[in-house]
Amino acid sequence: MDYIICHYSEIGLKGSNRGFFEKKLVSNIKKAIPENSFSKVKRPSGRIVVSLTDEADKKILKKKMKKVFGLAYFCFAKKAKSDLKDIERETLKFLDEISFEPNSFRVTTTRADKSFKYTSPEISRKIGAAINKRFNWKVDLEDYDLNLFLEITKKGAFIYSEKIRGDGGLPVSSSGKGALLLSGGIDSPVAGLKMMKRGLALDFVHFHAYPLVSNDSIKKAEDLFDILKGYCPEGKLFLIAFAEIQKKIRTTIPEKYRIIFYRRAMLKIAEEIADSRNADTLVTGESLGQVSSQTLPNMRVTEEAVDLPVLRPLVGENKEEIIVSAKKYETYEISILPDQDCCTLFNPRRPETKADLKKVLKLEKELPLGELIESAIENMRVLT
Ligand code: ATP
Ligand code: MG
Repeated sequence: MDYIICHYSEIGLKGSNRGFFEKKLVSNIKKAIPENSFSKVKRPSGRIVVSLTDEADKKILKKKMKKVFGLAYFCFAKKAKSDLKDIERETLKFLDEISFEPNSFRVTTTRADKSFKYTSPEISRKIGAAINKRFNWKVDLEDYDLNLFLEITKKGAFIYSEKIRGDGGLPVSSSGKGALLLSGGIDSPVAGLKMMKRGLALDFVHFHAYPLVSNDSIKKAEDLFDILKGYCPEGKLFLIAFAEIQKKIRTTIPEKYRIIFYRRAMLKIAEEIADSRNADTLVTGESLGQVSSQTLPNMRVTEEAVDLPVLRPLVGENKEEIIVSAKKYETYEISILPDQDCCTLFNPRRPETKADLKKVLKLEKELPLGELIESAIENMRVLT
């Protein structure tokens, strides 16, 4: 049988809370990989072991596992009994099946089970000698083509040769839940990924002006959702028709202040969705000074519309840095497709950069948004 051995980094530091984080990680792995690919997921001594079935497809598993935040690395492994003879037998069998012929190799042993009869260096030497005898590969501890890892645990010895890097961070949902305002742009998907990597589970809220504009932004939000869902399988996408609200704002609010009111209405709607999903925070892709609506006074006046905290993980990042992340997570190519975002509709030529809260609150009294917001929520479309 084959196994996946998973090692985590940051959770290892979590002291008495470690069990909580490990359980989250186990549950996230189970949700991320195909149901028919594993029979059980256990956590013996500081690692997670996934027992694979015959149906498991390693290529698919690799892709899915790379999206599980909290993993430092994982490995496809074989297992032997906790017995040196069996470890030797299974190691030679494992090496018979590898797809390339190394010139040099080393053995690296870690021993989680300290009661095992031999020390790690002794095991490495003995198994190394057997490999050398059988295949005639040269031992080179520094400059090797193949590193054969042995992990000795109470439940047996695991054998593997490739460590696949995970993205680290914390398991999704170990830090609570939020709602991301997901536009079709570059920034908001990256903001969501950053927060998921800090353990936040997310739902996604997209505002569109269809049918006043084409449905391109909806299509982009759906495609981005497909990627984001890989990291948070329980997240939902809420699609909100925003055109009626924008029309109302346009006819009531001075041009300069329109964007502030669009944003406040978006936050209010996202907050209602967050409340209904037991989420405790909102997340946006705003970055300080990136555009006129993202000045400090405007951010303050915008977030005053809601009670929930508004997290802005990109607030201190430059556009180039955000683009590097967008490319890494493969959202970039979708984000740069042309669309007509609802915010480009009826946009002021010179938006206010120093919004005044008192003025905003006074203007908002003239704006009966309540019913329009209710109707937008009643008519929203939800994708899972
Ligand atoms: P992005 O690249 O994320 O679209 P941006 O640089 O275009 O960001 P803005 O258009 O000012 O910046 O939007 C700021 C934030 O407001 C976005 O990051 C997003 O969180 C939210 N937002 C803007 N438009 C929408 C929308 N149509 N639907 C949902 N959220 C939105
Ligand atoms: Mg945008």
